[in-house]
Amino acid sequence: MLAIENLTAEVGGKPILKGLTLEVAAGEIHAIMGPNGAGKSTLANVLGGKPGYEVTGGTVTFKGKDLFELEPHERAASGLFLGFQYPVEIPGVSNVQFLREALNAQRKFRGEEAVSGGEFLKLAKEKAGLLKMDMEMLKRQVNVGFSGGEKKRAEMVQMGILDPDFAVLDETDSGLDIDALRVVGDGINSIMRKSDKGVLLITHYQRLLDVVKPDRVSVLADGRIVRTGGPDLALRLEEEGYDTVMEEAAA
Ligand code: ADP
Ligand code: MG
Ligand code: MG
Repeated sequence: MLAIENLTAEVGGKPILKGLTLEVAAGEIHAIMGPNGAGKSTLANVLGGKPGYEVTGGTVTFKGKDLFELEPHERAASGLFLGFQYPVEIPGVSNVQFLREALNAQRKFRGEEAVSGGEFLKLAKEKAGLLKMDMEMLKRQVNVGFSGGEKKRAEMVQMGILDPDFAVLDETDSGLDIDALRVVGDGINSIMRKSDKGVLLITHYQRLLDVVKPDRVSVLADGRIVRTGGPDLALRLEEEGYDTVMEEAAA
């Protein structure tokens, strides 16, 4: 579903991704772990097409197409969803407006009819319920005054509504307490754990992986994937830290 081949990318002229190769098949949840500054968020931003992140080499194929041929909004409309480490606030726009616009933009791009107000509210209620989020919160401005955990929940409601084929989730667990972590993790499972979908789940912590069980785990260090393994690799990292695993990979 997603094939990244020898990807190199720079930020502000500084090489960050240095030949990253990774494949995620349909039906797979692939966790990415790695030390701070390794390039995890850079990878997410490059996949999303964020300005300022310059691809200098390599290829990314998404559902058989060259991802870099698509503009960021076309990537989203093609079924790629990005969850951000730091979700942005959008003053003056309510979550309900934002989500309906986003859904209708996606539908328009796909040549589908816009959702009616009634249809949309039904969908929003269903997905908000899944994330145990009050509809009153969805009437508020996007992320304005939301706690870290509320921002992540709102983002997962957005994911539920857009129903993407593939999600890149960057530290979705950061800022979540234990209860919220369970809610968000269950939400990811129920929205994305499907045979025709895929997930790249960037996280530092096993506690999210206890809820969203990964099929594979890769370690990203200094702009490359240095190790890929099963769920047990994450448990080892939690126990031993990155150093031993990285030394092994270097050897
Ligand atoms: P991670 O998410 O793995 O902690 P990042 O991808 O955020 O790592 O960062 C990788 C490196 O790229 C860091 O050295 C960081 O300072 C640098 N970097 C990332 N984004 C920018 C940016 N917008 N401007 C300058 N440097 C950046
Ligand atoms: Mg980080
Ligand atoms: Mg990061």
